[in-house]
Amino acid sequence: MQALVYNGPRNVSVDNVPDAKIERPTDVLVRITSTNICGSDLHMYEGRTDMPSKAVLGHENLGEVIEIGNAVDRIKIGDRVAIPFNIGCGFCENCERGLSAFCLTTADRSVMPNMAGAAYGFADMGPYRGGQAELLRVPYGDYNCLVLPEDAEEKERDYVMLSDIFPTGWHATRLAYLSPGDSVVIYGSGPVGLMATISARVQGASQIFVVDHNRDRLNVAERLGATTIVEDEGREVEQILEATHGKGTDCGCECIGYQCHTPKGKEVPNLVMNSLVNAVKFTGNIGVVGVFIPKDPGAADSLAKNGEIAFDFGKFWFKGQKIGTGQCNVKAYNRKLADLIHHDRAKPSSIISHDLPLKEAPTAYKNFDERVGGWHKVVLHPAAA
Ligand SMILES: [Zn+2]
Ligand SMILES: [Zn+2]
Repeated sequence: MQALVYNGPRNVSVDNVPDAKIERPTDVLVRITSTNICGSDLHMYEGRTDMPSKAVLGHENLGEVIEIGNAVDRIKIGDRVAIPFNIGCGFCENCERGLSAFCLTTADRSVMPNMAGAAYGFADMGPYRGGQAELLRVPYGDYNCLVLPEDAEEKERDYVMLSDIFPTGWHATRLAYLSPGDSVVIYGSGPVGLMATISARVQGASQIFVVDHNRDRLNVAERLGATTIVEDEGREVEQILEATHGKGTDCGCECIGYQCHTPKGKEVPNLVMNSLVNAVKFTGNIGVVGVFIPKDPGAADSLAKNGEIAFDFGKFWFKGQKIGTGQCNVKAYNRKLADLIHHDRAKPSSIISHDLPLKEAPTAYKNFDERVGGWHKVVLHPAAA
């Protein structure tokens, strides 16, 4: 099969690799029809992880079931399915509690002895190949496939966002305990920040501030109903305080991660977290879904090399704030978010900038990585010629 393969820093290619196949009776084999490039793919693309050479990338996948293992009961050949980026088992103590991002069965214990969580085509998240390919093996297929309704093909470009960014944006707002009528500040207007914006609107936020220094992306946030604020190394917080009678927003979302940087491109890993402490009110909650990692040998800063940031804990404590963190448990949300799409209450495809055949993935990675204007979200279609 054709697949997007990681060769080394900023070097990917579409190669012929052995076909994905059923390996265990609980597996489902999916022919991928849509698969997105994600901002977190860029951490691997840039060589900022220990992703092995020749790994197949891609964790935002949707397609048609073409084969099922002997022990699969629910999923049928021909089903069109959205596949969460998390690989869960459904029966471990974390999956039982709905925390499918922290599955204990599928995790790779060579990363750390008590490791939890697995994903497709992702550094340190197990040996599972990604879906930027013609075929994808889905372990525990009954648990991990969301069967889509009859408009699956018509709204495929919306449903493919259920694999990661729509639930992840939603998760940011839930970690922040957003309630109807709340004001919220969202740092980052990349795809996840934009999904958090859509999520905040659906849940009845009264004011949605989106902060970034990329004007092109802020324009998309504005189209989605946000008040946009240009990031200015923390000085933008003044504007947020002014707009909330000096109080700060009720809650905040971090949708950038450890590679946050100044408008001039200098990485400052603590910039956004400290700005959020300042921009959110006393007793407010902050949801952090941007990626932070335990080790970052490529970091410029000596703290960041060990995954540490100079966090303003004193002010955070003094303000009585709370933080919720971590990868999104996609299965906790994807069924209901699919209903929002099905009934035209949410249209996450509105942020897609490019639909491309798989063979154009290397160019797409390059443009997305260089933040070339207009490259907001790329959907690859491996089945297209
Ligand atoms: Zn993703
Ligand atoms: Zn599990």
